[in-house]
Amino acid sequence: MFEIPVSQKTDFLVNATASGWDMADIAARRVALAQCRFYFDFDHTISKIDVLDDMIEHFAVDRQWRVLEEEWQAGKIGSEECLRGQLRSLRATRRQLVDYLSGIEIDPYFHRTLVLLRRGGVRPLIVSDSFNFLIETILKSNDVHGVKILANRMRVQDDRISPVFPYRNAACGRCANCKTSHLRNEDNLGKVLVYVGDGRSDFCASLQAHMVFAKDSLAEHLRQKGKKFIWYKDLRDVYEALKGWPHEQKDRS
Ligand SMILES: [Mg+2]
Ligand SMILES: [Zn+2]
Repeated sequence: MFEIPVSQKTDFLVNATASGWDMADIAARRVALAQCRFYFDFDHTISKIDVLDDMIEHFAVDRQWRVLEEEWQAGKIGSEECLRGQLRSLRATRRQLVDYLSGIEIDPYFHRTLVLLRRGGVRPLIVSDSFNFLIETILKSNDVHGVKILANRMRVQDDRISPVFPYRNAACGRCANCKTSHLRNEDNLGKVLVYVGDGRSDFCASLQAHMVFAKDSLAEHLRQKGKKFIWYKDLRDVYEALKGWPHEQKDRS
């Protein structure tokens, strides 16, 4: 994984825009779909509910997770500390987890959006501060296949769950899987980065994107930061916004 130090963050953005893309062109969808990279958050963006929160509530044997959740929401602790502590309160076997996860619905417009993007030559990525196993199981039970997921990992032994954080970024104290690192991948230079999210785990990464679809606390955060975004209620809005996006580069004249 190629990572640009935080101090060079602005340079990256300059490079990205200096590589030929004009914000007005992006906003007017004058950029071909194939020139874009699409990043989707999972919890409460693709899934209808915040799965991780619901799962913790469902399987927790004590109330300690609530204290951690409040501290995380208040920005007092990062996701890694929060998740480590919260998983410690859970008791669930792999079988129980699969049974629970199989009942979770995703936004039906995620399918349609996938078809649309794939037709345009785009393979979107799911970036999540939740866990691969949870997301994979839910997608499978909703008949979604072949989407790459960049998320934290978990080990389930008997009824104990422990986390592994392969994408930890030392420069960020907020995220366990710092989505910013994925967007700042060197393969992305010259690409138009499109981000779809809803909450706190999207705060970092969405600031790196050229076009952001935001709702809830992410929308509020971007408003405070003065960053432009497209407000959406659910993925139907995102689908509708992407529907007319050209597959081929349009002539600017
Ligand atoms: Mg979310
Ligand atoms: Zn981060």
